[in-house]
Amino acid sequence: MRLFIATLGTETNTFASFPTGLDDFKACLWAEGNIETFPASPWTSPGQIWLERGREEGWEVVQSLFAFANPAGPTVRKDYEAMRDRILGDLAAAGEVDAVLLYLHGAMVADGYDDCEGDLVTRIRQQVGKRTKIGVELDLHGHVDNTIVDASDLIVIYKTYPHIDHAERAHDLFELMKRLLAGEIDPKMALFDCKSMGLFPTTMEGPMIEFSKAIIEAEGKDGILSLSLNHGFPWADVPLAGAKMLAIADGDMGVAAEAAKRFGEWFYRIRKEATLPFTPFAEAIEEAKIKGEKPLLIADTADQIGSGAPGDTTYVLKAFIDAGIRNAAIAPLWDPLAVNICFQVGVGGKLKLRIGGKYEPHSGPAHDADAEVLFLKRNAWQDHLADERIDIGDVAVVRVEGIEVLLTTLRTNLYSLSLLTLHGISFDDKQVVSIKNLYKHKDLFVDNTRKQLFVATPGTSNPDWSALPFKRVPRPMWPLDADPLGLDG
Ligand SMILES: [Zn+2]
Repeated sequence: MRLFIATLGTETNTFASFPTGLDDFKACLWAEGNIETFPASPWTSPGQIWLERGREEGWEVVQSLFAFANPAGPTVRKDYEAMRDRILGDLAAAGEVDAVLLYLHGAMVADGYDDCEGDLVTRIRQQVGKRTKIGVELDLHGHVDNTIVDASDLIVIYKTYPHIDHAERAHDLFELMKRLLAGEIDPKMALFDCKSMGLFPTTMEGPMIEFSKAIIEAEGKDGILSLSLNHGFPWADVPLAGAKMLAIADGDMGVAAEAAKRFGEWFYRIRKEATLPFTPFAEAIEEAKIKGEKPLLIADTADQIGSGAPGDTTYVLKAFIDAGIRNAAIAPLWDPLAVNICFQVGVGGKLKLRIGGKYEPHSGPAHDADAEVLFLKRNAWQDHLADERIDIGDVAVVRVEGIEVLLTTLRTNLYSLSLLTLHGISFDDKQVVSIKNLYKHKDLFVDNTRKQLFVATPGTSNPDWSALPFKRVPRPMWPLDADPLGLDG
């Protein structure tokens, strides 16, 4: 067998005003035919797993491009086309292959392309014909419609949010592809449109835990090969937006369609309870004034880079200062200029520093501070899962009116507490810690915080969907419309 593998992804916030270009891919993941030489990370793992497992099977594995960028605005057209054409060119040069495995995101939008994944997979299908099998792994925050379903044989989507199963799903997809190539299964894929958008964590106390368990238990039974709920990415104004339920059945499209509808309607019925609750900003600052036994955690949701925001707003910093809150930490805040200035001054140096508020109109005002440099590190990282690392560039930690602020040269979320502890910031003794994340609830903070608030801060990724200027999402769409499927009765 000959297997061709590639990775191309980013999550596009169409409301973000700064574009995603080649440099953003090169700063996050850029591997040309040598994915095994990169450290394990959420972006490298699927490709590495397929390479290793393909070789274990005795297959010849042809590696193409592996490129991933952190979320931001739409990808520059020529850059998307260059990466797409690179993969198509590598595939043509590879000659005949039995299977193609692709790790894509699902929510990649480029100028002129609402659906980069659909475009890429359709072109691959046109190039390889029907005999070659195509399998795709996607993030659950993507947009899926019948374009990509029709063009591929197998699609497996993450099941967890926060995302901790990219490697597990890569194994699932490989296993299904192996069975397909052996002639053991005949996958039929069906999609059910849940006509809903939002954020639906799978680890909150709530109905998604049971739902997620049920779809896993249903796999491998009654002709069902795989079930995936595509949650959709709510900051994208595209015609294929919204949550969709995908079912793959063995040989029977009727079974796939029935399962997609059954689980899609189940999700629809729990969608309200499953939605991440947001706290108004002013309310969160009032709560932050309270000194509890454990820290309060504030997720600065509208400026979290995971949904395409720059990660450099200073609204929380200013609100803490204005509220007289001092024993606090803010991490991370993207500001390469400020980091470089801190390196010039050195640890212990004191300076007037302009923090944040630089990159796009949503970045808001910078904060001019009297700062003291507490910690510096080049080529820093944070840990993720068991053996994965997230590069965060150079780091400077400064103290501003008692508040410790961690500045980075690469845009990042907080993936683990090592972002603080590896860089000299303690967590447990803080009154309040603000992170530029959306949701890391149970996984990280359930035991070591007194409360976690997902705060509707100002910024790019406003969580009040009804306030966003949607023009192209299909209607009706919950919560913009009350009950699109008419099942609330
Ligand atoms: Zn995601």
